[in-house]
Amino acid sequence: MSASAATARSDASRRSRTPAWRDGWWWRAAAAPSPNHNARPAGAQIALVVVHSISLPPGRYGGDAIERLFTNRLDWSAHPYFETIRGLQVSAHFLIARTGKLLQFVSCDRRAWHAGASSWRGRADCNDYSIGIELEGLEGGRFTTAQYTQLAALLRALSRRYAIDAVVGHEHVAPSRKRDPGRGFDWNRLVRSLRWSRTRVPFATQA
Ligand SMILES: [Zn+2]
Repeated sequence: MSASAATARSDASRRSRTPAWRDGWWWRAAAAPSPNHNARPAGAQIALVVVHSISLPPGRYGGDAIERLFTNRLDWSAHPYFETIRGLQVSAHFLIARTGKLLQFVSCDRRAWHAGASSWRGRADCNDYSIGIELEGLEGGRFTTAQYTQLAALLRALSRRYAIDAVVGHEHVAPSRKRDPGRGFDWNRLVRSLRWSRTRVPFATQA
């Protein structure tokens, strides 16, 4: 057996010993546990993914301010913009940085605080039955190839674990309040890379 075959074999056996999900945490995400979560309502089935965009301060990438916000460790006085959100307690299940790096803040089995007042197909309070994924970016701006690649991998993993009916934007479940991820997010690119039916990615428009 060649060295590379031996390496491939030991990688495969390591993977087979590692469960993909453990208590709602995905093995490929770096865990950064947030205190901002609560129980989903009894019997709630996870059926929706809500995609968001965020950067702190807006348009500045690469720092740790988002991770600090979601874990209640942001120094509100460190930037004038942070003062405008002082005291905010929010979270999402996942964050995909511009580099594609993936962080997980809340177990998917728990209810993260990302969508606020919202509804999808007549069902209110999307936080009860959704997974929230933040993309580091600017509302209306473009996202990186590394982010699309990581998002597709994450959505595939989520759809193997949960009965995901639809992937939508925050702007679609809270249209009077929210505009993220906005026009720079390419739903068609996402649906092409997933090879999913457009019924599951309803804002993709290309066949
Ligand atoms: Zn949002």
